[in-house]
Amino acid sequence: MKRILITGAAGFLGSHLCDRFIADGYYVIGMDNLITGDLKNIEHLFKHANFEFYHHDVTKFVYVPGNLDYILHFASPASPIDYLKIPIQTLKVGSLGTHNLLGLAREKNARILIASTSEVYGDPLVHPQTEDYYGNVNTIGPRGVYDEAKRFQESITMAYHRYHGVETRIVRIFNTYGPRMRLNDGRVIPAFIGQALRGEDLTVFGDGLQTRSFCYVDDQVEGIYRLLHSDYVHPVNIGNPHEITIRDFAEEIIKLTGTTQKVIYKPLPVNDPLQRQPDITRAKEILGWEPKIDRAQGMQLTLDYFKSLSKEELYKSEH
Ligand code: NAD
Ligand code: UDP
Repeated sequence: MKRILITGAAGFLGSHLCDRFIADGYYVIGMDNLITGDLKNIEHLFKHANFEFYHHDVTKFVYVPGNLDYILHFASPASPIDYLKIPIQTLKVGSLGTHNLLGLAREKNARILIASTSEVYGDPLVHPQTEDYYGNVNTIGPRGVYDEAKRFQESITMAYHRYHGVETRIVRIFNTYGPRMRLNDGRVIPAFIGQALRGEDLTVFGDGLQTRSFCYVDDQVEGIYRLLHSDYVHPVNIGNPHEITIRDFAEEIIKLTGTTQKVIYKPLPVNDPLQRQPDITRAKEILGWEPKIDRAQGMQLTLDYFKSLSKEELYKSEH
């Protein structure tokens, strides 16, 4: 049985990855310090014989007994609200945490895939973004703590590959959504759905003409799974190229939820990228991957999830 360590296991993407690898017959070791994650995302796995969980901060020395075949490094605050609130932790998990996990991969002779992001392109001047684009990041802006941590993460990963021969993979994840996102993590999809379900107006930042391209979580997990098992070392964009303005997206959510609330406008956060759309040619050619779930389907599944939450969870405010 193959053994895989997944960091960030109690988070949104990490928990779906745990499910996928358990379903495929792997022995899964989940690791998380619960800083933005929640054990309820993986509690259904606790009774599973092929799952174990370590409550651990990966910026501290990481030890796992026994052999390991694969490591997925997904631990990191991921929403702007989170990483603006815990900027030093964000820098540390991308740098020190990644260093620890690359060291572990080298020690165990394991293949490691790290979760990078479309944020390495910053506020992009090339559109759509191909993997060859070097990006446009303000190193000293508030978002720099996340973007630069992820850029460092990619650099140290390639260095471990080149200098120590570690088998590495890099996925550049574009905005992904679905069940188990935290309702109050500030990202636009839980924000809008939460507002609609609570009967509040939907807060569009700026003029709402900035764009994003949203990928459903099952498509994202499939792309990551294929990349891990491929022999491709350079970064690969995984995302859904279907682009929409945030203003139009708010209208879509108003229709989908049937709310009678309206859109209100709030100031645009500093360095908020104006446009974002993945070029997925590389993923198509190398992994034979492209997204299968369109926004209408994916948003319905996501809405169903948020509707299933208790009133207490719906009104709980963390920020
Ligand atoms: P999330 O906040 O739901 O999950 C992150 C998990 O990492 C949480 O459970 C958190 O507790 C854990 N964590 C954070 N710091 C840690 C530390 N020092 N030690 C141990 N655990 C720690 O976020 P997510 O959306 O699931 O994102 C997962 C990964 O994917 C992140 O690396 C993120 O940067 C990347 N990513 C996500 C998206 C997206 O759209 N969801 C886009 C680009 C990149
Ligand atoms: N956004 C918004 N209203 C909200 C939350 C976010 O208009 O209540 C905007 C945000 O400014 C950004 C886009 O939605 O332009 C996506 O934001 P998110 O935090 O989901 O992801 P990211 O900016 O990291 O792509």
